[in-house]
Amino acid sequence: MTDRSPIARSHPSRKPCLTAVLRMAGLRPTRQRVALAELLFGGPHRHVSAEQLHGEAGEAHVNVSLATIYNTLHQFHEAGLLREVAVDAARSYFDTDTSDHHHFYVEDEQQMINIPASSVEFGKLPTAPKGMEVSHVDVVIRVRRAQA
Ligand SMILES: [Zn+2]
Repeated sequence: MTDRSPIARSHPSRKPCLTAVLRMAGLRPTRQRVALAELLFGGPHRHVSAEQLHGEAGEAHVNVSLATIYNTLHQFHEAGLLREVAVDAARSYFDTDTSDHHHFYVEDEQQMINIPASSVEFGKLPTAPKGMEVSHVDVVIRVRRAQA
């Protein structure tokens, strides 16, 4: 098998770009925020928990506490850079893909799989309480490996 084109594999650093993204989102691009943004947005879209990101930060020698990770994830979420998907009271995933879509949650593997928005149709939805409007509807479909 021949080697792939070097062009396809060359990834120029996204650092200057991420700094701009943070600024545009109204966040000061501190060293910590840029480092965490690199871990989050440096590759393909994904779903990550605070604990997972904390582990990755440690491996990348980015020295931050879990509390700082939580704060940063929530700041990114409030700035619209991340979507938060709560699977239960104790666990939230942060999704780097903020576009409209839903999720399968593989319970035994604690993994999120995207469902395109067009794959889910609502037959009936309640009207929002008086004076409110629906901002979006999150569907999490819980799945597990089928028994053989
Ligand atoms: Zn997703």
